[in-house]
Amino acid sequence: MLAFVGPDALPLLAALMGLMIGSFLNVVIHRLPLMMEQQWANECAEFSGQDAAPVADLNAVAKAASDAAPVFSLSQPRSRCPHCGHPIAWHENIPVVSYLFLRGQCSACGAGISLRYPLVELVTAGLFYFCVARWGASFTALIWCGFSAALVTLAMIDWDTTLLPDDITLPLVWGGLIAAALHWNTGVSLSDALWGAVGGYLALWVVYWGFKLVTGKEGMGYGDFKLFAALGAWFGWTALVPIILMASVLGAVVGVGLKFSSNLREGGFLPFGPFLAIAGLTALFFGPQSILRWVGLSL
Ligand SMILES: [Zn+2]
Repeated sequence: MLAFVGPDALPLLAALMGLMIGSFLNVVIHRLPLMMEQQWANECAEFSGQDAAPVADLNAVAKAASDAAPVFSLSQPRSRCPHCGHPIAWHENIPVVSYLFLRGQCSACGAGISLRYPLVELVTAGLFYFCVARWGASFTALIWCGFSAALVTLAMIDWDTTLLPDDITLPLVWGGLIAAALHWNTGVSLSDALWGAVGGYLALWVVYWGFKLVTGKEGMGYGDFKLFAALGAWFGWTALVPIILMASVLGAVVGVGLKFSSNLREGGFLPFGPFLAIAGLTALFFGPQSILRWVGLSL
């Protein structure tokens, strides 16, 4: 199908696709938490026997809802400048290019556009480039592109909201198991993937309850168990130790850094998901066992 494109051009095409997918991920990162809040509000209202609570009661949703946007989905309403409500035209929505062209400012009110948007697009493009450069035009490359996109999204949503949506973590677990069963994930057998998922979930579940019994506090959320289970499904049970090791060290370093620079948010809570995601992407790039080698635990 792609025979007319030279093999060197394939990763570049994948990177281009990554830019566009990254642009979509920005929408998901922004809207999925709002959609979840909306759903909770409706469920709570239903549960207490009242009509659905007005969306405006929820502070996060209220700001967006004031733009006459009663219901959020991934496609509705159209993207707008959060400052002035200026609808974003298609030519202002081209990944990275528009950001540079607009010099990082809204064309209507001049408010700054977060550097995050082009960064998410560039990171996704880089990950897609890597997957296709390594595995060519194959299902293996395709599934790892999907894996990468899911991790980028989860990391950003967790950083913003300390939530890891089931809508992404659970399909990621199933995806890892199915990829192994179909032999698309070439390095991991179905049995390795299954025990990776079970082990990943149980390991953090045990840590969670241990921590809670000793300190009375919740050290992490159930979303972290599911994300770690997903990483176990994608890399096999042998990758669990290197991944948790790297995520913990990274989290500790960043946590201490934020504490010293007084940038830690209220309550001193640092979500664990972004560090699990970075460890997962590192495992994808270098192989999980490299992480052990770096800390001198090589077998
Ligand atoms: Zn504006």
